[in-house]
Amino acid sequence: MFKRVLIANRGEIALRIIRACKELGVETVCVYSTADKDAPYLRMADRAICIGPGPARESYLNISRVISAAEIADVDAIHPGYGFLSERPDFSEACRDCKIEFIGPSPEAMGKLGDKVACKNTAKANKVPVFPGSDGAIEDEEEAVAVAIKIGYPVIIKASAGGGGRGMRVCRNEATLRSSIKAAQQEAQAAFGNGAVFIEKFLEHARHVEVQCLGDKHGNAVHLFERDCSMQRRHQKVIEEAPGPSIDRRKLEKVAEGAARLLKASNYAGAATVEFLMDDHQNFYMLEVNTRVQVEHPVTELITGVDIVKMSIVIAAGEPLPFRQKDIAIRGHAMECRINAEDPAQGFRPSPGRITTWEVPGGPGVRMDTHVVPGYSVPPNYDSMIGKLIVHADTREQCLDRMSRALDEFRVDPIKTTIPLHRRLMQNSDFRKGGVDIHYLERLLK
Ligand code: ADP
Repeated sequence: MFKRVLIANRGEIALRIIRACKELGVETVCVYSTADKDAPYLRMADRAICIGPGPARESYLNISRVISAAEIADVDAIHPGYGFLSERPDFSEACRDCKIEFIGPSPEAMGKLGDKVACKNTAKANKVPVFPGSDGAIEDEEEAVAVAIKIGYPVIIKASAGGGGRGMRVCRNEATLRSSIKAAQQEAQAAFGNGAVFIEKFLEHARHVEVQCLGDKHGNAVHLFERDCSMQRRHQKVIEEAPGPSIDRRKLEKVAEGAARLLKASNYAGAATVEFLMDDHQNFYMLEVNTRVQVEHPVTELITGVDIVKMSIVIAAGEPLPFRQKDIAIRGHAMECRINAEDPAQGFRPSPGRITTWEVPGGPGVRMDTHVVPGYSVPPNYDSMIGKLIVHADTREQCLDRMSRALDEFRVDPIKTTIPLHRRLMQNSDFRKGGVDIHYLERLLK
């Protein structure tokens, strides 16, 4: 096992990683920006090193500063968490060059699954269902039109190197497609430094169902079943749950086994999530692979009993997975509400500032992952998520009731949060029934 790990992240996930390291007997080094200098979790690390000012590109996104801190602190490994540098093959490579273990996939595996066109090809070869569409990148307008005629409108143009919901265009007819291709290529080149775009069938009505996987350095890979993350706003997940409500288990298991196969075929070591859209007939189509630990990993931890963050560290240290697929079973139901410092009554305007009242729920089946304490100031520089309320119960219905109860206990003042929205959703009959689609929340909020 590692002696010392540097955490190249902030907020709740930095604290989550500190906790995993402590339980493994590993020392922790946290980096921080001046905007986070008073964050209480920094005191829980064995050492904290300031790497720059508030703007992320001068601190958390600055590879040379992070690597310098790692060298000063003499760490064996770096955990990137999610966001920031977590999906940058150049960062994984910089770690390798400095003989520091990157807690995540090799730059090769990350490149293979992080690039959408390359990932889709590997998926197809491994019988993972993908959207009908172009075989690889589209060269010109005529090729795009030919593909669209074959698969039928509407189609979506996507950037191979795209991410964060950017660089996508839906085309409902030939005229729009013709006028969009060149612009999409130029936009992709400008935004991602790679002009490759591809086309696939656009699904009007779908659920977001993703499969959590783990692969080790010894050629083993398993899946930890699925999460349904269909409750979204502007492509941002709001509520996640596991398992997905009323999903055909046989279909799901076939898809999940495919996801594990995809990791294996890519020599992937670490945690990964294979994301799918699922249509009304429960057909699955792969969206992309996230080559890191995800925000919503706790719901899977609660239903499987597997500590995903600890596993990511254990795998990077070279240990084989301590279980096989047949050892993993689902127990009960889990749900997560993302608590954001935003005002749902004001168009989700960010609501940073000092929190004077912070009373978090507790009791049976309740887990709160947060770095916030009373008196904490939410800096305006970063993502607005300030915590995750996660509950576990025997059934989905009990889980919904438990979440309602927990949300009622939650007191936050004076900043605004998404708690009132979650309270409302727990009483929403469509959500309680289960199986809402990815556009449901936006329709509801209109
Ligand atoms: P990114 O990496 O930018 O997040 P994704 O491929 O994951 O890109 O797509 C982002 C979102 O766009 C998806 O969550 C989904 O809501 C929508 N989307 C992407 N592809 C399709 C498609 N073929 N049909 C319908 N919606 C899609």
